[in-house]
Amino acid sequence: MTLNQLTISELAAKLAKREVSSRETMQACLSQIEQVEPKIHAFLSYDAQDALSQAEAADKQLASGNNGKPLLGVPIAIKDVLAVKDQPLNCASKILGNFRSVYDATVISKLREAGAIVFGRLNMDEFAMGSSTENSAFVTTRNPWDTSRIPGGSSGGSAAAVTADECIASLGSDTGGSIRQPAALCGCVGLKPTYGRVSRYGLVAFASSLDQVGPFTKDIRDSAMMLQAISGYDRSDSTSLPEPVPDYAAKLDGNIKGLKIGLPKEYFIGGLDKEVSGAVHAAVQQLNKLGAEVVEISLPHTDYAVAVYYIIATAEASANLARFDGIRYGMRVEGKDPIELYSKTRGAGFGPEVKRRIILGTYVLSSGYYDAYYLRAQKVRTLIRQDFLKAFEKVDAIITPTTPTAAFKAGEKSDDPMQMYLSDIFTISCNLAGISGLSMPCGFTTNPKLPIGLQILGKPFGEETILTLGHAYEQATGWHKERLQLKI
Ligand code: GLN
Repeated sequence: MTLNQLTISELAAKLAKREVSSRETMQACLSQIEQVEPKIHAFLSYDAQDALSQAEAADKQLASGNNGKPLLGVPIAIKDVLAVKDQPLNCASKILGNFRSVYDATVISKLREAGAIVFGRLNMDEFAMGSSTENSAFVTTRNPWDTSRIPGGSSGGSAAAVTADECIASLGSDTGGSIRQPAALCGCVGLKPTYGRVSRYGLVAFASSLDQVGPFTKDIRDSAMMLQAISGYDRSDSTSLPEPVPDYAAKLDGNIKGLKIGLPKEYFIGGLDKEVSGAVHAAVQQLNKLGAEVVEISLPHTDYAVAVYYIIATAEASANLARFDGIRYGMRVEGKDPIELYSKTRGAGFGPEVKRRIILGTYVLSSGYYDAYYLRAQKVRTLIRQDFLKAFEKVDAIITPTTPTAAFKAGEKSDDPMQMYLSDIFTISCNLAGISGLSMPCGFTTNPKLPIGLQILGKPFGEETILTLGHAYEQATGWHKERLQLKI
């Protein structure tokens, strides 16, 4: 095994014993990047020199022993939607031009405080709008299991880079599934924290009532470690909540006896691939064998989730993206007056999916349509949240497939926005309800061999429980290790 293939916990143990150095590890990641990037295209850019000098600084701290920093010397790559001081920030859009961040996002400062090496800009769908990373203005990331297929989206670069061992872990963002869906399609672990668990200061906003930052990792323990590092109240983000941050990793004891898991009948329906459904049912049986109790539940408003999401998310996006006007950030196309400057800049700078969303969002907010669409969607959103809160009175967690099918081929859905939107059918409700959720590998399709994702949804601030369930399942099955067989 090479150093870039290690998990955070494995690497941290070796670094602490000084069996290996952070510099060697960073070098191993860079060599892997050089080798696989011509096929994978997970990174938009990276600064090898800066990464290596961060690693050298970490080695000095490691040499002095007393670190107490859980991620000291661990290379972590970042989705191109989070501000990292002096690094490019493009959201995979042309409109940001050669913009560079002037400050660190709070999650980045927290990773640095925990000792991490923060490097690279990972590819994504433009402004996080999409499910395949094909909406990047620059390049399409490919799935490490089959490079003719997409890695999912919008955090496709974050999922592919972790799966292809180009970094030890990464950060992404999830507005309607953008962490869990690519994690499922690439076969790694992706966690969307509860709304309010993690600060969004320095995250470029897509839909502010839905966005959360979260980790991509190679196993559940690493997910717990990353969550612990980035969680907590932040006075710079008024939506972050002052809940205590538990020691998530310390609680992973394998004991899930007596935990109740709910299977929502609305999620096991037509359109669900047979192999996906089979793998998820097998996972439920396994959890049951390990001591969890399985209960059928109902989430009656599930059918409305995609429609509600595409009203609320586009409405919020149309407001958030108004700031990209050719005056303040990045690209500018001159015009004879400010209006012409705005429209020429936005016309040239935004890609087709972003324009579609801005138009949709502006429409549902406009006078005469606001009540019929936006207001009604808000009401149904409340019903969807109530469905979950009611279910969580009976169960500790909810199990579903993460996606209806395994990774699809590049180009297969790119001309059909509706088909693309439907690939988020199982992930969207979690954001609308503001609850926690993760995706982890639970098997593979046979021909071709592609990862299948298990989604575990938890109560608001129920991350400990879903991580405990995921960990027990992972230890009993070992699907996460299949990655090591990959030949790219
Ligand atoms: N795929 C969904 C969309 O296109 C979700 C994106 C996300 O979570 N950022 O909006």
